[in-house]
Amino acid sequence: MSLPASVTIVEVGPRDGLQNLRQVLPTADKVRYIGLLAASGLTAIEVTSFVSPKAVPQLADAAETVAGIRDLPITPIALVANLKGARNAVAAGVRRLNFVLSVSTSHHRSNVNRTREESLAELAEIVDLAEKIPGFRVRASLATAFGCPFEGQVPIAEVLRWVGAVATLGITEVTLADTVGFGNPELVRQVLLACRDRFPGITCGVHFHDTRGLGIANALMGMQCGVTVLDAAAGGLGGCPFAPGATGNIATEDLIFLCEEMDVKTGVDLARLCEASRFLQSTLPGVDLPSRVFRAGPPKPRGPISE
Ligand code: ZN
Repeated sequence: MSLPASVTIVEVGPRDGLQNLRQVLPTADKVRYIGLLAASGLTAIEVTSFVSPKAVPQLADAAETVAGIRDLPITPIALVANLKGARNAVAAGVRRLNFVLSVSTSHHRSNVNRTREESLAELAEIVDLAEKIPGFRVRASLATAFGCPFEGQVPIAEVLRWVGAVATLGITEVTLADTVGFGNPELVRQVLLACRDRFPGITCGVHFHDTRGLGIANALMGMQCGVTVLDAAAGGLGGCPFAPGATGNIATEDLIFLCEEMDVKTGVDLARLCEASRFLQSTLPGVDLPSRVFRAGPPKPRGPISE
């Protein structure tokens, strides 16, 4: 079993997590929450999305949130689904975008209300925009890469086709997302190895939801296949408002526990991360944080694993 020496965890709780709550977290609390996440050592944080406030009212304060976290030592990432969102994100000062596109037709339509080809054309325009702005980077997140709530199984050939489509635009960072938790470790292995074989210039990250309990097993398989960029949400908050049955992302606490116990460095302090989740829980009473490690508490420190 070979594992990477270190990984980058992309914290998506402030976006993927908060967008699925009934309550809207006030901007000042979002800023405080992101500050606590940053204080735990997380450096890549998807802080919000620039999408229609009608579709996602929980994140209608995207620009204000970004303004509030300007001084944090993090790389703020914003999710966008079209050119307008990208322009708004740039105007707010964001330089790292995560463009979402579903591999399956029906999920894509229900998520962003346009065809995949229309979205790809917008992504091409965003890439043009990115070239004019120093330090601006765009990652493509391919949703439903391991299964679709409407269409079921998604062929690996279709995943490869869309990785190829975004690669043609010059994008080198792709996240394969299991939006509703249909993936299993063997499928994860097959998809990741097929991507690596076909597109060696693409760095694949993964985004797993724990809908059916295999999220952490899938993350482990991802790392065994060489993945070093993994999305997770503190507390295990999350879901997808446009994907029936979706539940939370894999919990950042659980992923860090998995990594650190196996000597895969994350740079994140688990106890401090739990403080961020505790803050969220105290601010939004009744919100369920399913993270096992958050509930049980961080483990006692131990020495290196010996043979
Ligand atoms: Zn997600």
